[in-house]
Amino acid sequence: ETRHAKADHAHLLAMREVRHAYGKHVALKNINLEMAPGEVVCLLGPSGCGKTTLLRIAAGLEVLQQGEVVINGRRIGVPGGRHVPPEKRNVGLAFQDSALFPHLTVLENVMFGLEAQPLHQRRQRALEWLEQLGMVGYAKVYPHMLSGGQQQRVALARALAPSPPLMLLDEPFSSLDARLRDQIRDDTLHVLKKVGAGTLLVTHDPEEAMFMADRIALMRDGRIVQMGTPQELYCNPSDPFVVIFFGSVNELHGEARGGVVQTPVGPVSAAGLADGTQAQVLIRPEALLITEIDEPSSSHQYSHVIMAKLLGRSSLLHICAHGKDGREAHLHARVPGVFLPAAGQPVEIRLDPSQVFVFPADLAGAGA
Ligand code: ATP
Repeated sequence: ETRHAKADHAHLLAMREVRHAYGKHVALKNINLEMAPGEVVCLLGPSGCGKTTLLRIAAGLEVLQQGEVVINGRRIGVPGGRHVPPEKRNVGLAFQDSALFPHLTVLENVMFGLEAQPLHQRRQRALEWLEQLGMVGYAKVYPHMLSGGQQQRVALARALAPSPPLMLLDEPFSSLDARLRDQIRDDTLHVLKKVGAGTLLVTHDPEEAMFMADRIALMRDGRIVQMGTPQELYCNPSDPFVVIFFGSVNELHGEARGGVVQTPVGPVSAAGLADGTQAQVLIRPEALLITEIDEPSSSHQYSHVIMAKLLGRSSLLHICAHGKDGREAHLHARVPGVFLPAAGQPVEIRLDPSQVFVFPADLAGAGA
């Protein structure tokens, strides 16, 4: 009995100390991840960080090299142990390259995974799933007659139809155009929650991860950098990489002194850094709160607008900030709605501290 044996019953999926190499290239360095039944977890990260490899190991499409994999309380992956193939793992798979059977109709493709049931029930179930994903009108069509996005929806229906407790989905919405994608994401999440299917979903899109996930595992370079709820990662990032991955930020540098770091837009909390520590200050564009002023007062730091652009729901301003110490910084500010001050307009900047993040400068790019 391992020390985890008891806890394993509570886990739909547990991966421990998983490492993986393709020849000399180490794709996964030391992965620990646990999922509760019904939980939707997104593997998020830049291209090449190892998301797909991790999903393939969970699915059994890749043979486990090091570590341990537990599905539904069953240890099915131990290095050197007998490999349990994907079809024996009771998981639903939809991968980017999981092609539909070309010689079967859409309906037959979805019925394929339901072979244990009587024919009329299989038909009924399959039609219900096609309905859920808006594809019931294509039941009699063959896959080659469908667009990429339609094929993806049928592949999703096929994976979901047997209602496995664990779904493994690799970029399941990637072939859909933007408008359809929102709709199908919505429908898929609704279905997953309704049937209570635990889901591990790969995406490189932070917004998709935040929408779909109960928890996000943000990966870089074969490791999980931070795992938590979307709100935890967005509001309480553990690493500069986490801040930057969720959107462009202004980056300033300074030294911690008396609990603050002086920047050209004023002092920010040093977040517990010791005096004399070099700090990296990350400021989200929406953290800059801007008011137009008549005259810059000489005793204050002041700023002026270089350029303002309307992006639609928000306006993007380029600002030049002049610090008290004579330092200058160029910053991007994002202001909701239409706010288009003329070039040269003096402004005052306040910062929303909840959108400002301070890290020791030597963390910057660590492990990148
Ligand atoms: P993407 O978002 O681009 O699909 P990913 O995060 O899913 O990327 P993986 O596909 O898991 O990343 O790849 C991780 C690393 O392992 C990459 O550097 C990739 O080049 C490498 N790799 C993946 N599959 C193989 C393979 N079959 N043989 C050799 N190297 C591979």
